[in-house]
Amino acid sequence: MLQLYMPLHFLGFVYREIKHSLADMERMFTLLDENREIQDQPDAKVLAADQATIRFHHVDFSYETNRQILFDVSFDIPAGQNIAVVGHSGSGKSTLARLLFRFYDVRSGCIQINDQDIRTVTQQSLRAAMGIVPQDTVLFNDSIYYNIAYGRPEATQVEVYTAARAAHIHDFIESLPEKYATIVGERGLKLSGGEKQRVAIARTILKNPVILIFDEATSALDSNSEKRIQAELKRIAQNRTTLTIAHRLSTIADADQILVMDHGRIIERGTHQQLLASGGTYAQMWELQQQEEIDQHQQESTISA
Ligand code: ATP
Repeated sequence: MLQLYMPLHFLGFVYREIKHSLADMERMFTLLDENREIQDQPDAKVLAADQATIRFHHVDFSYETNRQILFDVSFDIPAGQNIAVVGHSGSGKSTLARLLFRFYDVRSGCIQINDQDIRTVTQQSLRAAMGIVPQDTVLFNDSIYYNIAYGRPEATQVEVYTAARAAHIHDFIESLPEKYATIVGERGLKLSGGEKQRVAIARTILKNPVILIFDEATSALDSNSEKRIQAELKRIAQNRTTLTIAHRLSTIADADQILVMDHGRIIERGTHQQLLASGGTYAQMWELQQQEEIDQHQQESTISA
C-alpha cells in the first residue's frame, strides 16, 4: 500500500506545486491527464483560432469559497496585441493566466477567445493554441533535443534545430560534447536560468501557438542576458496575442496596453505614456524601479571593475 501511496502522494505534491507556480502547465497535463478537476463538456467544440482575440468579461474568481481573489476583471486583448499585467505580489496576475489556460473555471463572468467561451471548447484545442514561457522552466531528465521537441513532438530535426537557432541556444548545444544528445534536468547537465528560458523559447517557437503567455522571472538575470531574452521574446510575440505577467516595468514599456492590478482588481490601465502622465500607482512603481535599476547597474559595474 505504501508503495502505491508514495508515488501518488508525490504526484499530488507535483500537481499542487506546478499548479501553484504556473511553471510548465502543459507538462503537468500530460503527466496527470486523468487528474483534472476541469472536464470537457459533452458537446465541446474545437477552438477556432487562426488568430485570437481574448476577452475577460466581468470575471470573479476565488480558489477557496471564503476568499475572493479576482473582482469584476474585464479587459480585451485584440488579436496580435500584447497586454502586460503588473502589480504587487499576490495581486492576482498569475491567476489571470491560470484561468486563461483553464486550470480553473471562473466563478462568474466569462473568458472568451474569438467569442467562444473557453468552457465550451475542448481543453486539448484550447491548450494547443497557447504557448507558455514560464518563470522557471522544468526540464525533463532527457536529452536537450527531447526537451525542445516536446513543443511539437512530430517536428523534424531541421525544425528543432531552426527553433533552437531562433532561440539562440543552438551554438551552445553544439559546443557540448554530446551535443543535442546531452541529458539535462535534475539528473543531467544543469542549465542556468537563462539557458532554461531559451529552451522554453525554442519549445514555444516550435509549437507556433497563436496565444503566448510570458511569466517573467522575478529574479533578474544579469542585464545582458535579460536584454537578449527580451529581444527574442519580442520577436516571437509579433503577430501573436500575448499576455505578459511582468515584474520589471522596463521590459513592458512598449506593450499595447498595461493593466495595473491591486488586490484582485484592475486599478489602472493604459499605455506606458498614459499611465506615467496620469501620475498614479504605475507612475510611482516606475520611479521606484528606475532607481533600483540604476543601483543594480552600479553594483554590476563595481563587481566587474
Ligand atoms: P506574484 O507576483 O507573487 O507571482 P501574483 O500577482 O501573480 O503574485 P497570484 O499568484 O495570482 O498573484 O495570487 C493571487 C492570490 O491568490 C494570492 O493571495 C495567493 O495567495 C492566492 N492563491 C494563489 N494560488 C492559490 C491556490 N492554489 N489556492 C489558494 N489561494 C491561492
